[in-house]
Amino acid sequence: MHKKSFYALDICIKMRYTSSRSMENKLNDDFEEENKMKKLFALMLALAMMLTAAAASAESLKVGLNAEFAPFEYVDDDGKITGFDVELITAIAEKMGMEVEIENMYFDGLLGALTSKMVDCLCTGMTITEERKASVDFADPYFTATQAVVVLKDNDTIHSIDDLKGKKAAVQDGTTGHFMAQDDLGCDVSDTVYKAATDAALDVVNGRADCMIIDDAVAQNLVKKYDTLTILEGMDMPVEEYGIAVNKDSAELLTKINEALAAVKEDGTYDALIAKYFN
Ligand code: GLN
Repeated sequence: MHKKSFYALDICIKMRYTSSRSMENKLNDDFEEENKMKKLFALMLALAMMLTAAAASAESLKVGLNAEFAPFEYVDDDGKITGFDVELITAIAEKMGMEVEIENMYFDGLLGALTSKMVDCLCTGMTITEERKASVDFADPYFTATQAVVVLKDNDTIHSIDDLKGKKAAVQDGTTGHFMAQDDLGCDVSDTVYKAATDAALDVVNGRADCMIIDDAVAQNLVKKYDTLTILEGMDMPVEEYGIAVNKDSAELLTKINEALAAVKEDGTYDALIAKYFN
């Protein structure tokens, strides 16, 4: 072959080589670009998954209560729902990696709200009773209470349980105090059943009712608030225990609540709350 031809061929080959090199480079660049995109995508996906996991871990626990039961649950001066139960269930939820969402409603509507799954649990000074256990489950007891008889300080008709028979008793709808007054103590509750415990207390303050039957810790709070009221001594009422209620098909939640309750008792949170609200 002619020298010139060799030269031309050489150039040609070089050109092809360069062009294939540049093509290769381009392909490489594309490949790197694609790799970068893939990495970025994987990173974004991981981030999204982490965020979802974080959101899931801060899942909310819907808690039903009646915030008219100080010191267990009440609305404070700033309009915030607080109290022993509220702080307790918040600490329990925290141990479970959950956030509390409060649903405030009348006491007599709470069990229905739970069984219709409007809320996940009830933490509202609710006494564990056989009747309630027929429709819901209770976690381990967290507080011991008894019913108290609240009267005016100058009351001179009620001195014993027997004296309660036929007396007008103001009560809160659907509570153990309500059932006890009506079914066991023979009180007249025909027109003295209230949605709110404070309204029942006012009946005694105003002399519309002879007494009020309500949980002792709440009675003590009311007596502090209305200085004409007092609690009758020596009434010897049965002991009641408060429990957090959950639905019967929420066995897993029940176990978690019991574990978390044990943990807040163990780490001193429970005792600190008792000291804060009952001393
Ligand atoms: N312990 C009472 C009950 O379970 C009252 C509870 C309440 O009024 N929050 O009926």
